[in-house]
Amino acid sequence: MRSAARFVLLTLLSLALGAQALQAMKVGEAEKEALMDHIRYLADDAREGRGIGTPGLDSSAAYLADRFRHYGLQPLFDGDYYQRFDMAWGAEAQEGCYLAMSEDTLMLGADVLPSGFSGIGEVQAPILFAGYGIAAPEYEYDDYGEVDATGSIVLVLEGEPAEEVEGSLFAGTMTTDHSMLRTKAITAKNQGAVGVVVVTRDNTLPTLSTDEPYRDVGIPVLLATPSSLKALFPRLDFAKLRRSIDANESPRSMEAGDEPVTMSVQMTRNQVPVSNVGAKIEGSDEVVIIGAHYDHLGYGQMGSTEYGIHAIHNGADDNASGTAVLLELAHYFAEHPVGPTLWFVGFTGEEVGLVGSNWFVNHPAASLDNATFMLNIDMVGRTVDHKLTVYGVHSAKGLKEMAQAAGEGSPMTLTYTGGGYGASDQTSFYVKGIPVLHLLGALHEDYHTSRDDFDKINFDGLVEVLDYGVRLINEAAKPETKLEYQEKAPPSGGGGRSNITVSMGTIPDFSQPDSLRGLRIQGVRSGAPADEAGMTGMDVIVKMDDIIIDNIYDFTYALKQYKPGDVVKVTYLREGTEQITDLTLAASTRGRRGGGGGGHPGSDKKEGGHPGGGK
Ligand SMILES: [Zn+2]
Repeated sequence: MRSAARFVLLTLLSLALGAQALQAMKVGEAEKEALMDHIRYLADDAREGRGIGTPGLDSSAAYLADRFRHYGLQPLFDGDYYQRFDMAWGAEAQEGCYLAMSEDTLMLGADVLPSGFSGIGEVQAPILFAGYGIAAPEYEYDDYGEVDATGSIVLVLEGEPAEEVEGSLFAGTMTTDHSMLRTKAITAKNQGAVGVVVVTRDNTLPTLSTDEPYRDVGIPVLLATPSSLKALFPRLDFAKLRRSIDANESPRSMEAGDEPVTMSVQMTRNQVPVSNVGAKIEGSDEVVIIGAHYDHLGYGQMGSTEYGIHAIHNGADDNASGTAVLLELAHYFAEHPVGPTLWFVGFTGEEVGLVGSNWFVNHPAASLDNATFMLNIDMVGRTVDHKLTVYGVHSAKGLKEMAQAAGEGSPMTLTYTGGGYGASDQTSFYVKGIPVLHLLGALHEDYHTSRDDFDKINFDGLVEVLDYGVRLINEAAKPETKLEYQEKAPPSGGGGRSNITVSMGTIPDFSQPDSLRGLRIQGVRSGAPADEAGMTGMDVIVKMDDIIIDNIYDFTYALKQYKPGDVVKVTYLREGTEQITDLTLAASTRGRRGGGGGGHPGSDKKEGGHPGGGK
């Protein structure tokens, strides 16, 4: 067939197929226009970044209520589209803020500062170092994976692993939600911690702003500088810890002190009126909930990565895009009702700690017992190459299959992953025993900045997201769809050092200068594996199999990966020359001699423990 004719035929074919695909799509051009209108309105400068306490947030709420009414949906809250409530706004630290361990105390002002969302009160508890304080299943990274924070105060580093490294695990140099202090505090709380001490990146403390929508996170949270913390934790080197985690992009969590620590926060807070906006389409008793947060960061409040620049954060992608899809799903199902009752909810206060969704699940429009599924839509406006993440499929049995069935015929490339806990409003519903999904597009450099604007939205992609949303709800509405909620497994393993079961017989040299990378050993125990392998004093261990040893914390971490009898390839430097040896690890003697924390000064404890050994 001549190329010209073949070309024409192929074009016609693809057009037909495209049209067919579009026909297969439940939505099209009309919805695209509507999505653009919603985002144009919500992300307009006049909405002032939909910050808490701004008139722009209130007019955005009115816009949602007006659209719901216009599409013919019933008010959700006893004849009202608004669920009004008051939330904390602004905070002032009072006398009585301190962090103490035995006779050393760090005071408010120079040494410590409470976070605006800190809980108020005093707690005394053991202290645990928990890395960056991040649990990120999507990155298979969990600072709490090998420690149990229940009943402890946790020390966590500001930021996220390798945040300045291109291509690094946590979205390279882009800041993810896991860096947010509030997310760290919530994660710590969910892990059972009773207090959080945030170690600032440098030796300056931020200022506590008086017009931030702080909401009590429920446990005390203090910020402290590395230099002031040195007085309490002389054996902890935070710069080394940060470097060690960053080098391997894996946790280094451990117990941080033998004495209990006392922390106290005293603070005053003001209140501001806010509201969730909700509507429903009545159906059977079964309820399917669709939600999206409509608030954002205003002029650059807490959560902005340009914190303090006072510029409108328009939040076109975060989350005018999800709110637009929420409105068009309501519009679609008003015209194409399904079996179950559908609730559509615009949440406020997501950026400041899931405030609106938390309020909603604790003051639901009606019992949540009939709720079978919750779909959350947050940041779907910047999809790339038709890719969409369907997050939360492991929150219930049958959910992944349902999501996959909905994906058949969709032009999107769908990734199914994650459990019920996440960095957005679905978490509030998951902890109430409801299966959840979160639709998430691509992360980008404009996240939580004043550059997240209308003109960067991928509207063709957004139509595909809307289409997939329609399919998901149709699948969820099928009588044969049965979802069985499943809980996330609790954290495994015991305390920091306690689960080192092996020994090499090396004695770390704690006088090692900071500039020296690796772990220098002072000597080896005679007859121990390291001795058998020919190692000796002043050798510098730089690698164990593929684990980079930057310092003692990498070494401690590495030892935990092995069991007695394992053969490990140790790379070390002797007078600067690289040597490699295989040695067979022995069983650690620590356990047999009455185990547990303190007490025995034998090399085993020293080997895996804190710099300078330990009493
Ligand atoms: Zn968001």
